[in-house]
Amino acid sequence: MNTQLQQDLDNLSEILNAAKEQSLAYLGDIHKRPTTINQVPSLNNPTLPSQGQGALHTIQEFENRFQSLMVASSGPRYWGFVTGGSTPAAIMGDWLTSVYDQNTQSTKGQGDLSALIESETINLLLQLFQLPATYLGGFVTGATMSNFTCLAVARQWAGKQKGIDIAKEGVTSGIKILSATPHSSAIKSLAMLGLGSNHCLPVKVVNGNREAMDIQDLEEKLRAYNGEPCIVISSGGTVNTVDFDDMQAIAALKKKYNFWWHVDAAFGAFAACSPDYQHLLSGWDAADSITVDGHKWLNVPYDSAIFLIQEKHRHLQVETFQNSNAPYLGDPLENFTYLNFLPENSRRLRALPAWFTLMAYGKDGYQQIVENSINLSRQLGKRIESSELFELLAPVRLNTVCFTLGRSKDQPETVKAFLTELNSRGKVFMTPTVYKGVSGIRAALVNWRTTSEDINLVWAEMEAAYLSVKAN
Ligand SMILES: *Cc1c(COP(=O)(O)O)cnc(C)c1O
Repeated sequence: MNTQLQQDLDNLSEILNAAKEQSLAYLGDIHKRPTTINQVPSLNNPTLPSQGQGALHTIQEFENRFQSLMVASSGPRYWGFVTGGSTPAAIMGDWLTSVYDQNTQSTKGQGDLSALIESETINLLLQLFQLPATYLGGFVTGATMSNFTCLAVARQWAGKQKGIDIAKEGVTSGIKILSATPHSSAIKSLAMLGLGSNHCLPVKVVNGNREAMDIQDLEEKLRAYNGEPCIVISSGGTVNTVDFDDMQAIAALKKKYNFWWHVDAAFGAFAACSPDYQHLLSGWDAADSITVDGHKWLNVPYDSAIFLIQEKHRHLQVETFQNSNAPYLGDPLENFTYLNFLPENSRRLRALPAWFTLMAYGKDGYQQIVENSINLSRQLGKRIESSELFELLAPVRLNTVCFTLGRSKDQPETVKAFLTELNSRGKVFMTPTVYKGVSGIRAALVNWRTTSEDINLVWAEMEAAYLSVKAN
């Protein structure tokens, strides 16, 4: 054995302790850490040493060079994109995922049995979301890959309806796709799947300040297809204003028309955790497939998302993802192994952080996390409504505040300057958007740590950034 490796092996306890110490240093003051790094240091591209320096020297070097550059992205005020955090139990699970380093495949025992933990975790999530046990699910790296996985099976379904096995033959003819306000990652998935990002036909949105599908327009389009199969991509929470498509109405249409129904509920799925908001999803249990992110509102570390696909489509899923020319992997239909159900073959025990956090905090814990995010978003929304400086671009429907500067007087450049100033102050991080043609800003709250003190702090920051931009 290499001497450096041998030394590290003998020093394992010290090595893990060093990682623990650095973890505590970061997590201990995460609420004080900056949410952005203004000066990007130049990389010094070290040469790969021929003789390694061992783990303890390396963590020291990492600490010296990079530790201070780590922003508080899992802290309480990182509100850009939709950024979750990591609960203590989730971190525990994530650390142990690396320690155990299982290749998570089969629930029947083909080597390790970690896939049992994954299926158990899916079952816990189905309970959390009050979804029926008719879904087969698994973990992928993010909601983008979950959308990809679900839409790949949808593609196989649509092909089969037309008598084509797309997994084998390739995409030989166009497949119709309908959506009103799809997330960019669903469109990206259409590009990756050879369905073409241009082939998603827009459904009108409901009148008024909405992003949800106009159901009448959807029905007219479905009727015009006259039985030709299509894929409907619906939103269980749009990313700008968290608007929900009318799930019950789509479920009713599904009884009359021939379509695959996919719900992208990357973070909106968590509305199911709150009795006050679960009606937003009512009817979604008729969907053929559902996307949910883990690294957003579930508050597990990156990279984690879940796909849920109705078990009755199992054969389509296997047709799509099977390793058909690898006899050593066994018969894909006979023996359930994840490698025949999703894009990756070898894969980590990605479910473990989710298993830990779900068992550690349970239904009540998640109800509280979710309702806390919603209440705090509403608090911020109220302040904006009663202020001259800012203006809401849409009502706060759930956990996202979409706003701009007090309108008419302000140009896109001013909005941009305000956001740059706000973010560079390092206390909060938000991201830009354009909503119905107006430049705006989004704050999405999904972190378990956030409190009303953070709202107070951010409000003061917003006022200060506004004044600073107006002074210039
Ligand atoms: C974040 C998000 C995605 C993409 O998720 P990643 O985890 O970044 O891949 C897809 N859909 C919606 C609605 C999202 O909010």
